[in-house]
Amino acid sequence: MTFSSNGVSADEHVHDVLIIGSGPAGFTAGLYAARANLNPILFTGQEYGGQVSLTYEIENYPGFPEALGGPELVERMKLQAERFGLKVEFDYVTELDVDEHPFTLRTEAGKVYRTRSVIATTGARPRYLHIPGEEDLTGRGVSYCATCDGFFFRDKDVVVVGGGDSALEEGLFLTKFASRVRVIHRRDEFRASKILQDRATKHDKVEFLLNKVVTSIHPGAEGTVTNIDLKDTVDGADSNIETDGVFIFIGHIPNNDLYRKDFHLDDEGYLVTDKHMRTNVPGVFAAGEIQDKVFKQVATSVGQGCAAAMQAGKFIEDLETHPFAGKHADPRELDPDVLSFVQA
Ligand code: NAP
Repeated sequence: MTFSSNGVSADEHVHDVLIIGSGPAGFTAGLYAARANLNPILFTGQEYGGQVSLTYEIENYPGFPEALGGPELVERMKLQAERFGLKVEFDYVTELDVDEHPFTLRTEAGKVYRTRSVIATTGARPRYLHIPGEEDLTGRGVSYCATCDGFFFRDKDVVVVGGGDSALEEGLFLTKFASRVRVIHRRDEFRASKILQDRATKHDKVEFLLNKVVTSIHPGAEGTVTNIDLKDTVDGADSNIETDGVFIFIGHIPNNDLYRKDFHLDDEGYLVTDKHMRTNVPGVFAAGEIQDKVFKQVATSVGQGCAAAMQAGKFIEDLETHPFAGKHADPRELDPDVLSFVQA
């Protein structure tokens, strides 16, 4: 054990691969890195399992025709990776320093790790509406997770905000508890897949309030949601409806705090990678929703995690023959598809 300049104990050992994040991309990277004898450590972050662990049922992950719960899928991925030697730390990475190689990671538990490569799989978090009442009433009628909170709305009236897969899928899940689920969407066309649109339209507990946005959420005497203000996006008319719960599913924001200083992010804050999952910092790879704003599926995250681990292995192998160029490495090394961005 040595001590870093800030007096925190540091692991002398230089690791080959450290993985940040515990969703499907992270555990798949862990599985592949472990099987390649890279002795990976995975840091779970504050939300173990990431977004998939908040998903009630996954019907489109190949190999599970009968569907399975998100938390169960994550647990199976963890067990499988651990079987080959992945070490899982229930700790949160607070700093990733890529000024020098080996890189340095600092965690909330006060630990310092040095590593030759990093795989970033920190995912994304729900987007907020940023309207009056939303923050104050979160946990008291406002929710971003039907799986977590649906149970509290037995025989109650709820609204779901959004027109994507999440809104309709979670809305359908809420019909197990709520007496009525109204989907509020700002347009009259949906981004959601046809199959979910069909299911929602046919469900007798689901209703639609189209061309509407929620502008304010109000509590009653008990401090929980009782009614919301709406605005019509076509004619501008204001209205108010009573409801007990507001479930918001309007997309996600990448968890990019660790990467803002040294990494190329796109205009929405996603990490830019080439098709080999490389970021602009050689030795740092990314997979899953931190770098994917298009597909966002468990199946795609798993594939990206696998590719990132294979590339990390290749990077470590190449270190023996190629001098390391550090974070100021020549971006021409990167795929031409991302080059225009990197050069901008
Ligand atoms: P999304 O597809 O980006 O949809 C977000 C929805 O929220 C859109 O309908 C959007 O309206 C609406 N919205 C955004 N900002 C808003 C605002 N400020 N006020 C009101 N409405 C707003 O997000 P998602 O549903 O979370 O899905 C993300 C990705 O995960 C997608 O690729 C999706 O296919 C995938 N996913 C898949 C499954 C599945 O396969 N079973 C399940 C869940 C998610 P507009 O349409 O007008 O832009």
